[in-house]
Amino acid sequence: MASRYSIFSLLKESFRGHRGWAPAWRDPEPKPAYDFVVVGGGGHGLATAYYLAKNHGACNVAVLEKGYIGSGNVGRNTTIIRSNYLMPGNIPFYEHSLKLWEGLEQDLNYNAMISQRGVLNLFHNDSQRDACVRRGNAMHLHGVDGELLNREQVRKLLPLADFDNARFPIMGGLLQRRGGTVRHDAVAWGFARAADSLGVDIIQNCEVTGIRQDGNGVTGVETTRGFIASRRIGMACAGNTSRVARLAGLRLPIESHLLQAFVSEGLKPLVPCVITFGAGHFYVSQSDKGGLVFGGSIDMYNSYAQRGNLAVVEEVCEEGVALFPCLSRVRMLRSWGGIMDMSMDGSPIIDRTAVAGLYLNAGWCYGGFKATPASGWCFAHLLATDQPHDVARAYRLDRFASGRLIDENGSGAHPNRH
Ligand SMILES: Cc1cc2nc3c(=O)[nH]c(=O)nc-3n(C[C@H](O)[C@H](O)[C@H](O)COP(=O)(O)OP(=O)(O)OC[C@H]3O[C@@H](n4cnc5c(N)ncnc54)[C@H](O)[C@@H]3O)c2cc1C
Repeated sequence: MASRYSIFSLLKESFRGHRGWAPAWRDPEPKPAYDFVVVGGGGHGLATAYYLAKNHGACNVAVLEKGYIGSGNVGRNTTIIRSNYLMPGNIPFYEHSLKLWEGLEQDLNYNAMISQRGVLNLFHNDSQRDACVRRGNAMHLHGVDGELLNREQVRKLLPLADFDNARFPIMGGLLQRRGGTVRHDAVAWGFARAADSLGVDIIQNCEVTGIRQDGNGVTGVETTRGFIASRRIGMACAGNTSRVARLAGLRLPIESHLLQAFVSEGLKPLVPCVITFGAGHFYVSQSDKGGLVFGGSIDMYNSYAQRGNLAVVEEVCEEGVALFPCLSRVRMLRSWGGIMDMSMDGSPIIDRTAVAGLYLNAGWCYGGFKATPASGWCFAHLLATDQPHDVARAYRLDRFASGRLIDENGSGAHPNRH
């Protein structure tokens, strides 16, 4: 079992040259059978396994990951957390998640660098201001914090932003102070370590290649490391969801798209919180090392490649410079891409499937990182009890047939537009 991290264990190890640390999680051989199998060792899969063990006392759980944990979107995102949603189906869920983030480091005994530095959505015209007011009011009705800032209040926060840009003057913003950033890969490691210490087997380099069924539902998974039996299987495969679901004969209302992220060279403090540009698709925060971490739209074509194209790089940089002209000579150090599971209404799915014993956690689009703790919490509840958790009740798979969509952006059935 991994040792507990504390000031005393740090001091003790510093005197011993840090030679006494145990591995943060084991590297077990897969057992022939488990009570629960979670496919996908991203943030959602690991959190699900952790809460299955912690909240439901499940002690025979495996997470199967085709690569290494953190190699998917959990280690590729731009680390933003927030609960500033509009739709009734979304606000309670994302607020539950934000509350879990607030106590997560103590719960996991792991430093995930949770920083509630605030998330500010800028508006640039009257109709955007009205939309921000409406969203802020909806948040207040659910007990979520949100403040409308006027132009001068925003200017104090962002003195170097271009307020008088002829096309996109900044008129104000909606600020959620409890939003912020979390170190993304530490979330994967923290959940992995905590789940492992409760007995969960985290099996890396183990790709699920088939899902076996009999007349009563699922019986197990075929993997690159052999067959593993289980009557309860949860899919948490993000960008690869459609591929894995197809192994069970399911066709889902999900498309896989690419999203890129970027990091600049280190700068002096410029952006005190997370900023989203209202006149385009651009958002930025500043890491503790000083690099600007930013991103924009998806690449707009279906793909399973974890890399993007230059047109989007150019577009994102243009928008960044429109907001902060002083960035025009800053050098971009790195960019990368991740595969997004874009649902038809832009909202997620946490539900049973038509195959008994096979459960689905997907459709996170480019907002699933902030959902990680609540997603794990609710998916574990569903797997353990076969009932949806209260705050995830709206995330039904059949809403695409019944028309009860949760279209947060009002973009319609265009997965690339959410
Ligand atoms: C560039 C970028 C920026 C983003 N920014 C944000 C942000 O700021 N805030 C936010 O909330 N969200 C953001 N997101 C979205 C967020 O990262 C994802 O929605 C979320 O991480 C998805 O859940 P996950 O962590 O479980 O996914 P992943 O980490 O992708 O986990 C899925 C895992 O399943 C594994 N897998 C797939 N197929 C199989 C198989 N057959 N067998 C076994 N394992 C399999 C994969 O290898 C992968 O490790 C961003 C995403 C990207 C790419």
